[in-house]
Amino acid sequence: MKLLNYIKGKFEEPGSAEWMDNLSPSTGKVIGSVPLSGESDVKLAIAAAREALPEWSGMDPSGRAEWLDRIADCLEEKFEEIAYLESLDTGKPISLARSVDATRSVSNFRFFSEMIRDMEDEIYEMEDATNIVKLRAVGVGALITPWNLPLYLLSWKVAPAIGMGNTVVCKPSELTPLTADLLMRVIDEVGLPSGVVNLVHGNGNSGSMLTGSPDVDLVSFTGGTSTGAKVAQSASPQFKKLSLELGGKNASIVFSDCDLEETVKGVTRAAFLNQGQVCLCGSRILVEDSIYERFMEMFVESVESMVIGDPMDDDTELGALISKQHLQKVQGYVSLALEEGGQIVTGGEPCLPKELEGGNWMSPTVITGLGTETRCSTEEVFGPFVTVHRFNSEHEAIEIANNTRYGLAGSIWTMDLEKGRRVAENIHSGMVWVNTWLHRDLRVPFGGVKDSGVGREGGKWSLGFFSEPLNVCVRHD
Ligand code: NAP
Repeated sequence: MKLLNYIKGKFEEPGSAEWMDNLSPSTGKVIGSVPLSGESDVKLAIAAAREALPEWSGMDPSGRAEWLDRIADCLEEKFEEIAYLESLDTGKPISLARSVDATRSVSNFRFFSEMIRDMEDEIYEMEDATNIVKLRAVGVGALITPWNLPLYLLSWKVAPAIGMGNTVVCKPSELTPLTADLLMRVIDEVGLPSGVVNLVHGNGNSGSMLTGSPDVDLVSFTGGTSTGAKVAQSASPQFKKLSLELGGKNASIVFSDCDLEETVKGVTRAAFLNQGQVCLCGSRILVEDSIYERFMEMFVESVESMVIGDPMDDDTELGALISKQHLQKVQGYVSLALEEGGQIVTGGEPCLPKELEGGNWMSPTVITGLGTETRCSTEEVFGPFVTVHRFNSEHEAIEIANNTRYGLAGSIWTMDLEKGRRVAENIHSGMVWVNTWLHRDLRVPFGGVKDSGVGREGGKWSLGFFSEPLNVCVRHD
């Protein structure tokens, strides 16, 4: 499959005439080619977005909400194709691509369509004047997304961005371009006015051309913390609106009064969903000393029973890692864990399911015996790799959980809900779940603190980020 950019309502070859192979994570085989866009492509895409802006931002919000509904309907018709392409491109199990990626991609458009339709100006009366607060489009947006949840995250940005009247240029990860292409086909099929959504494929160079362009007014970036720092350096001097959703090293805190069976299920899912390649994954498991042995016995059994194999098989629970390079990075952390004094309780090996020898396979890995200050216990690994630690008190659990530069999410497992809330309120992160994980209500703020990012998206926070408020004060003596 040879992909094309989508600029001003047309699928276009890159002006750079450069391409790169798109590899299947599960087999290592070439499944297509992706444009490596250059400066001319990025400039054309930004110009198209700029040209479409006045008419699109001038449209009534309810009119834009109707377009979001049309996109959602068309995506829904392609539900199976989304799941198939996402599984092929990322190596994730098809069941996960259906239940999470395809489902959320449709619901992101539906959710924001409803929010935008219900939006009203705010009115503040004074004795002698009326204040009207109106949300207006910011302008041209650059939407840059990673490879772990490709369409899920792209739709999470496109829907509120265009719903609020902005026009956009999307830059998906070069490793997972297939569902971004599908979204452009959908946008083309429903006949969205040309230039409202544009897409340039390519690597970080195309991304940095977008963030540095003086014709881009806002940047919504999801990706790694070190890339986020480069994006901030490039966008901030021009005072662009900037949202950074970055990495995480989240703690799952298991108290002795938890429902152990449910907790083991929840903590296993939090650790290894999408092969541990979710920013919210609970990659540090903190267990109260008095139940440590019992927890470990049940946890290891649960981890070892996960079905690893062909992502297209309905029974598969763990698929392949995104790339050879990423597999090597995760394996590097296994070696580092041993150097840092840890023990491998299970996993740690490359595992090659039959007939998939060329893919990027690794068995789910559990490490114990590491100090909480070590690199393996504090750095984001973003793979099927977790460290387990003991604690003796609420205070100690909180201290360990906060002992990282990241602050994205966390989960707490206890039957004492009062304690759960108390501990949650002391964790330095954007989101904490009690007795659950990745339980998402799209109305609540999503994002992190410290090195996990700047700003929040989700619900009214997305509408706020993708708009500028205008206050009109009318005096009426
Ligand atoms: P990444 O390497 O930072 O890349 C993210 C995106 O930025 C890709 O599209 C990438 O392009 C592009 N890019 C690279 N260099 C750039 C630059 N200088 N300027 C502008 N764009 C640039 O991240 P990743 O490896 O794809 O994704 C994994 C990371 O994302 C993890 O750290 C994970 O925690 C984080 N993440 C965070 C969230 C969240 O909501 N907080 C959600 C999901 C993932 P190419 O890849 O095509 O080169």
